[in-house]
Amino acid sequence: MENKLLKRLNKSKEASKIELTRQDDAKIGKIINNCSNKQFFKCKIEPDLLTDPELDLLYVPKNCAEQVEQFAKYVWESGWNAMPHHALPSWLRDNDYLLKGHRPPLPSFKACFKSIFRIHTETGNIWTHFIGAICICITSFFYLLKPHYETKIQEIFVFGTFFLGAFACLICSALFHTFYCYSPKVCKIFNKIDYCGISILIMASFVPWLYYAFYCDATAKLTYMILIVVLGIACIIVSLWDKFSTPDFRAMRALIFTSLAFSGLIPAVHYLSSSGSYKAFNFGAFGWLIACGILYVVGASLYATRIPERLFPGKFDIWFQSHQIFHVFVVIAVYVHLYGITKLASYRLTIGDCLTAHIETDFSFEF
Ligand SMILES: [Zn+2]
Repeated sequence: MENKLLKRLNKSKEASKIELTRQDDAKIGKIINNCSNKQFFKCKIEPDLLTDPELDLLYVPKNCAEQVEQFAKYVWESGWNAMPHHALPSWLRDNDYLLKGHRPPLPSFKACFKSIFRIHTETGNIWTHFIGAICICITSFFYLLKPHYETKIQEIFVFGTFFLGAFACLICSALFHTFYCYSPKVCKIFNKIDYCGISILIMASFVPWLYYAFYCDATAKLTYMILIVVLGIACIIVSLWDKFSTPDFRAMRALIFTSLAFSGLIPAVHYLSSSGSYKAFNFGAFGWLIACGILYVVGASLYATRIPERLFPGKFDIWFQSHQIFHVFVVIAVYVHLYGITKLASYRLTIGDCLTAHIETDFSFEF
């Protein structure tokens, strides 16, 4: 019966595609030997199962697969080695153009956290957004304490919303990339949090622009804010769907988030038609919005197509892979957007209240 079990275990080992060394194989042998008395890290095979003539053969491989996975976690707990992509368990396989340098499943949140100080395929992804989140925190601190934002609570609210959205997106992303290798369940949960963060950033980016672009048009301002919130919530609901995070839906994810960002074309066309292109580009921050759009589109395209690693598999395993470039583009886009809305805000604040602005607009048209 033990031979039978050993065969089953080896089959499961092959099926789970976990590559183990000879030394590890010897340890697996030890698992078999100690299985009946459960001395070796919580063996899951019941002792009476080994002597049961009516052994449920379907049950055994499931148990063995679990054992191998637990064993792998045990081996890697004290000091893990980076793995090739083909050796990863299926739930950790995402980008098959990154051939080596992947983290194995790690046994605890602590081990996942410690992994941020090691070099692997996720190091760049974690740090690009972690540093981005810290930068946003520092920027918001100085920004919101500027003298002219102290006077109006609305100014603090609209800019604060943007900073909060940007921070939420970047920190959720950094957390996802840090902890997703813990278990399939944690991977799914953090993946959803990451996608929610993207929708929140897009919604939050609209708030200050709509607030200043439609400063004196409360109806348009409210309508567009409701529109973006409804679309953003719809995106969050879609991203809570389990299959949304699978590799097959990569292009779909890029398309959905880009579409959400591009729903801003509706208020942009409205602003352009009511204010004219001169005002839109010189005071409405249109140039900066277009730059932002280009950054998002290029970043999302690289993310969806997995360029450059698709063209040179194995050459961008650690640095300059598409996901890292996408992350960097997101951080740059956040700052480009911030610069744009700052310009728009200072224009609004210099021309005074709505009545003054109206007179000035009329005057400029006559002129
Ligand atoms: Zn990411």
